[in-house]
Amino acid sequence: MSKEVRLCPPTDRECNLCGRKEEWNAEMVNWEIGEVDGEKIVGEKFCMHEWDITGTHRSIIEVV
Ligand SMILES: [Zn+2]
Repeated sequence: MSKEVRLCPPTDRECNLCGRKEEWNAEMVNWEIGEVDGEKIVGEKFCMHEWDITGTHRSIIEVV
């Protein structure tokens, strides 16, 4: 018996350090830089980006 783990990816994320925003593009299968009022929120170029969705496992749904 093995547990089936289904990954439910978030659709957007924000850096805790520099405020960079990214949005998940399902067609490109990649993260894109998010926009607020038509302005791209790039954040710091050399930031190590600590996403507000990492470190938690709330995006993983376990199905027994
Ligand atoms: Zn950052």
